[in-house]
Amino acid sequence: MNHTKEMSKLTTLQDLLIHSVKDLYSAETQLVKALPKMSKAASDPVLKKGFLTHLEETEFHVIRLEQVAALLDASPRGLSCKAMKGLIEEGGETIKEEAEPGIKDLALIAAAQKIEHYEISGYGSARALAKAIGNDEIASLLQTTEDEEGATDKKLTTVAEKIVAGIPQS
Ligand code: FE
Ligand code: FE
Repeated sequence: MNHTKEMSKLTTLQDLLIHSVKDLYSAETQLVKALPKMSKAASDPVLKKGFLTHLEETEFHVIRLEQVAALLDASPRGLSCKAMKGLIEEGGETIKEEAEPGIKDLALIAAAQKIEHYEISGYGSARALAKAIGNDEIASLLQTTEDEEGATDKKLTTVAEKIVAGIPQS
């Protein structure tokens, strides 16, 4: 028997969409707490600032998911995203690692890109569900965030290339 609403059986596309939104909401709220720490641990000023810029965007991602949940007549709360918890834990280990500043920055970027890719896939699946149930307003809200995650991923690649170029190769 299921005991809570959150644990109830997923029957429809809308049920799965709500489930995905809750999962993403948990992921994004965890990330709001993690990004300032990643910024602090970074040395490259562009990377430091980039993490804080993405923090501001992430705060909007949380708000957008609240809007999506409201459009679905659901609460965005009630699930814990274990995947994001694990990704952030790994990022935390990177933060603690002893490393040359440029190398540490590259490790932080790698951790951050895993997070962005995870988000991109989560938003992509959720957006597809919104399209499938014909809710273009929700699909467009999810697409907006997905685009920002993609842009962040590309910016991280650019910073990584710049940092790699500054590290002696022998
Ligand atoms: Fe996000
Ligand atoms: Fe993100």
